[in-house]
Amino acid sequence: MSLMLRSLQANFAYRFGFTRLPYAPLLISLEPTNYCNLRCPMCPVGHRAHDPSIARGFMPRAVFDTLLPELARIRPVIAFHMGGESLMHPDFFQMGQELRTAGLRVRLDSNAMLISRDVARRLIEHPPVDEIYLDLDGDDAGSYERIRKRANFDRVVGNIRHLLSFRAERKQSLPRIIVKGIRYYRLGAKPGFPDSYKALFADAPPDEYRFAWADYWPGSHREDLSSASAEDGALYQVPPANSDPKACELLWSRLAIGWDGQALLCCLDLNRTALIADVVKSGIMGAWNSPAMMDARRAHISGRQTEMSLCANCQQIRRESPSLLRRFKLLNTGRNASQGGERQS
Ligand code: SF4
Repeated sequence: MSLMLRSLQANFAYRFGFTRLPYAPLLISLEPTNYCNLRCPMCPVGHRAHDPSIARGFMPRAVFDTLLPELARIRPVIAFHMGGESLMHPDFFQMGQELRTAGLRVRLDSNAMLISRDVARRLIEHPPVDEIYLDLDGDDAGSYERIRKRANFDRVVGNIRHLLSFRAERKQSLPRIIVKGIRYYRLGAKPGFPDSYKALFADAPPDEYRFAWADYWPGSHREDLSSASAEDGALYQVPPANSDPKACELLWSRLAIGWDGQALLCCLDLNRTALIADVVKSGIMGAWNSPAMMDARRAHISGRQTEMSLCANCQQIRRESPSLLRRFKLLNTGRNASQGGERQS
């Protein structure tokens, strides 16, 4: 079934409160690994990198091989990201190429620290993904390095510039490259990707710039993150949001699959508090309509989303979000990104 038709179905199912969904997820966040090379203070992965209660690893080949035939059949957009840096996975290029060969659209989110000359060549010469989203946060080197702990501003800018100029030299349009920035919110601050950053890429610009205010990840660690970033001298605020909770549309459009084949209720649950099914056993559609997933949809449409520990503090249920139809346009074209207030996921 086409992505367009599924988007219309998702819109209908969300508006009329269906809990068992006859269509496949529009987008699947697939996590090659939840190890990360950085320690960003706003991110639960960086914040709890050494917490032994959170299982960490790299997606085994056997898990990927089990998922691939069903993915090829149901054709979601694949987003390689969730709780780690996907380029750390030794089979990343192979997995991406196999998904694309099977006819799927594939995206990568990366902090760009690992895009060496060789990695750039492989990303451009035999693209494992259709789109790459690269993080360039803050307003300048200092604010960047406060947000992206362990990263080096000059190295990241150099990596992105090289990737863009290598693609331009080869006169290729694929993969599309989007440079996106997160900034900490301040009252009165203007949204938008900084012009000073755009000037760094004037010779070979990306296809698009995007911008988001840093957000709280959902779950119980909100206060921890807040105090951790305050200690770093980066006072953590998020923009005010509509206080009336509404059903979270992501439950009708997205599925998250962790590195070990565990499906999660939400791609933002980086502490893995709401595992819903082992996809190797249940299959992807089994997880999509698992009792836990349907219970969560039911809780959201009956106004009990704030009783769920994962969702209670989440900004997603308190802000106006694009319709599923608009989300389809974003999924399908990657264009028309909002210039303010988009979540960093
Ligand atoms: S409300 Fe937040 S935590 Fe809950 S499913 Fe939606 S995005 Fe995820």
